[in-house]
Amino acid sequence: MTETLLGMPSLRTRREPTRPGLRYHVRTYGCQMNEHDSERIAGLLEADGMVPADDPSDADVVVVNTCTIRENADQRLYGFLGSLRRLKQERPGMRILVGGCTAQKDRELVRERAGWVDVVFGTHNLHRVVDLLDHAEEWGPVTEIWEEPRSEVEPVSGLPAHRESAHSAWVTITVGCNNSCTFCIVPVVRGPERSRRPGDVLREVRELVAEGVVEVTLLGQNVNSYGRDLEVNGRRPLFAELLRRVGEVEGLRRVRFTSPHPKDIREDVGEAMAETEAVCEQLHLPLQSGSDRILAAMHRGYTAERFLGKLEMMRRLVPDLSVSTDVIVGFPGETEEDFARTLEVVAEARFDTAFMFQFSPRPGTRAAEMEDRVPAEVVQERFERLVELQRAITFERNRERVGRILEVMVEGPSKRDPAVVTARTRGNQIVHLRGVWAPGTVFDARIVRAAPHHLEGVPA
Ligand code: SF4
Repeated sequence: MTETLLGMPSLRTRREPTRPGLRYHVRTYGCQMNEHDSERIAGLLEADGMVPADDPSDADVVVVNTCTIRENADQRLYGFLGSLRRLKQERPGMRILVGGCTAQKDRELVRERAGWVDVVFGTHNLHRVVDLLDHAEEWGPVTEIWEEPRSEVEPVSGLPAHRESAHSAWVTITVGCNNSCTFCIVPVVRGPERSRRPGDVLREVRELVAEGVVEVTLLGQNVNSYGRDLEVNGRRPLFAELLRRVGEVEGLRRVRFTSPHPKDIREDVGEAMAETEAVCEQLHLPLQSGSDRILAAMHRGYTAERFLGKLEMMRRLVPDLSVSTDVIVGFPGETEEDFARTLEVVAEARFDTAFMFQFSPRPGTRAAEMEDRVPAEVVQERFERLVELQRAITFERNRERVGRILEVMVEGPSKRDPAVVTARTRGNQIVHLRGVWAPGTVFDARIVRAAPHHLEGVPA
């Protein structure tokens, strides 16, 4: 996820959830298949940070998963949509999405009879529910129906709404995942991994650069397995090759990618990173747990020792590499001993930063069925210990950068102080600098101070 703990549910993935705390409600009409689809929709919305609401009147986002089998399902649908219209008049920020069989079959009718609906999506578009929601919020009502079976659909890059800045863009290289991590909904909702052809990726990157983009982040659930389903000039294209080719696009200053899977990352990726100037010295390598027993239960395909070996390999190949990770606390069956191992591995790895999560079951995943849940108060207490450890390591790593000259790229004015800009190092550390520079400007800065979660600098 980008692998995230929650399983890269959206093309915006590896990124943190974008709607933390917003509430959603899914209303399902029809058969068990629809019930199952609604579980997937719920999993995707939760992966974006949302929490369930029992009643639509409490929800910021309402998804109606429709059915065409019985006529009265139709009547109930339009009756329900009528009541949502009244709620939306009171709260115009509310979003209404209609998916499922009726949406697939009668999309014009839904639009005609319920013009207040924000998103109409078909049965093959369910996995894009978060993207479509983003799109509707940025651009207004959207209808998206693909007629083809999902496996035949060419993976697409982010919609225009995904571009959060003029100088930086995400580029999808694969969708879906062939792994089977037990906490993750991705293999279910996105199906098997499919790679975009290298020529298509490069064309998109060149177009972005022509539009003024100077930084791209290549996205895939497991970028190392890029190309396994492709044949170009008689052989499989490799991720390391793609990285080099993208890095050579003229005008591009920075290339990032997320995420590699620890079990699959190999030397060729480290070599490509070290030898391609535009590729940043930054790696997101999701650990998830330091306990071999829990890693096996998660179906991650590596041990803690193997993970640390891969980390050491990448640090050896890529000088000054910054590393971030994901860790799940309180996976079913996690004992105090398992957790102690996680603390040990985190301490040994000295990640620059970590995305830490408390386990929460995702409907439709195997972990959701597992017994032996860790009590919430135990998870909370362990989580706090981990956060404290990582906070100290991050601060320490930041302090090691004081006095150094690092290349920074300006993101924009600081939210707290307009006289200050926020920039990022190649390692992805946040740097605050006093002054005014346009977003996308790149220059060298001397780091003068370290804080727990950012650095302060002056132009060098
Ligand atoms: S199944 Fe595993 S590797 Fe695949 S997206 Fe989910 S967490 Fe990542």
